[in-house]
Amino acid sequence: MKLRIILAISCCLTLIQSAAAAEFSAGVAVVDVTPPVPYRMSGYFSERLSTGILDPLYAKAIVFKQGSTSAALVFVDISGVSLDVATKARRQAAELTGIPYEHIAVAATHSHTGPLYFGALRAHFHRQTVKKHGRDIHEEVDYPAQLAANIAKSIQQAQKNLQPVKLAAGYAHDDRLSFNRRFHMKNGTVRFNPGQQNPNIIRAAGPIDPEVGLIELTAAGSGKPFAAIVSFALHLDTVGGTKYSGDYPKHLQDSLRSHFRDDYVSLFGSGTCGDINHVDVTTRGRRSAQEIGSMLSESVIKGLKQLKPVGAPSLAVKSAILPAPVQQFTSEQIAAAAQTMESVADRKVPFLKRVEAYKISALQLRGVDTIPLEVQAFRLSPQVAIVTLPGEVFVDLGIAIKQASPFPTTLVIELANDAPGYIPTKKAFVEGSYETVNSRVQPGNGEKMAETAIRLLRELGDSAN
Ligand SMILES: [Zn+2]
Repeated sequence: MKLRIILAISCCLTLIQSAAAAEFSAGVAVVDVTPPVPYRMSGYFSERLSTGILDPLYAKAIVFKQGSTSAALVFVDISGVSLDVATKARRQAAELTGIPYEHIAVAATHSHTGPLYFGALRAHFHRQTVKKHGRDIHEEVDYPAQLAANIAKSIQQAQKNLQPVKLAAGYAHDDRLSFNRRFHMKNGTVRFNPGQQNPNIIRAAGPIDPEVGLIELTAAGSGKPFAAIVSFALHLDTVGGTKYSGDYPKHLQDSLRSHFRDDYVSLFGSGTCGDINHVDVTTRGRRSAQEIGSMLSESVIKGLKQLKPVGAPSLAVKSAILPAPVQQFTSEQIAAAAQTMESVADRKVPFLKRVEAYKISALQLRGVDTIPLEVQAFRLSPQVAIVTLPGEVFVDLGIAIKQASPFPTTLVIELANDAPGYIPTKKAFVEGSYETVNSRVQPGNGEKMAETAIRLLRELGDSAN
């Protein structure tokens, strides 16, 4: 009897040891996803037709593999990944690579100089163009289908590029570039973007997150770093205009390439920056995408130099879907919204009225009572985890996840697998202003989503010990 127990225990130990000892590999790949000109661009409430390319838009994939476990993350230079495109891309990738659907995350970087290819605004401009020209002359290609296929292709290529790697992870620090964009005003309200040097500002209504999450990959053989995941909570809207651009992460990559090697891949994951932007209200000027990218790269390079190697990788993924009830509107409100949408680009109509009409129309387009908020947690080792969340998530929620995480380094990346608008905190819902008007889910779902992420991290933390 005793012998049998001892045998069983030693058998178990062997299994654990072999899983822990299995080689850890990673591969990256970059695929161009730039739409043709003059495809519509996203980011604002007016119709913007693209006129050229400042720099190409990319899907950047990373695949991890250890033993029989694989996972993939893709970062795409677009404002949001629609549920439809994310689902198709993940299905195609799962078929091509054998990586389970639930182990694949597709996140948008939130570039405001990318394509407008889904949602209520696209539907409105599409209808208008068809009415005028008999067809949509700005959508001569099936961009959503191409995008899904290209995302899947990026994962397939990254899998082909798998090689044994060593990981290092930790945080850089930068408190110079990001600002909470919601402010308490003298009249008792909270306002988003109240304008630079506005004398009625009392103070910011929320924090920033100065931590820059870093995961560096070094080829086990050569000892040379070849890629890094960099995550920072700062809204990508620093370029403007009508030319495609990957925004400041493009300049971050340029700087990292000139520092490390020409083919270095910087995979930028947007941190939870639903209420964070680059506007310093105490000054008049604004930093350009290039300035932000190169300043961020200074901090990133400094941080990369101080990273600690990650021992004993132990790849695992957990995910959960939180069915978030949507906000409800009367049939009168829905009809009024449809009417307001006809003048959604008209600056004479109050901004928040247009935003609310857009939100109600977006909900009508979805036609559901709950939005499935999918939360994924990727464990790379007992020291490093990545969380992905859908939507434009308020910074407090990301900070709460990081603070409760059992992993010393936790990257929290937003806008993954769906773009259901802003996910504010309960506090922000009480305060109001733009982001809450442009949110679809009921108050409280942000906190529930954070709790779900924390639960998954704790489960992964427990099973690593
Ligand atoms: Zn935005």
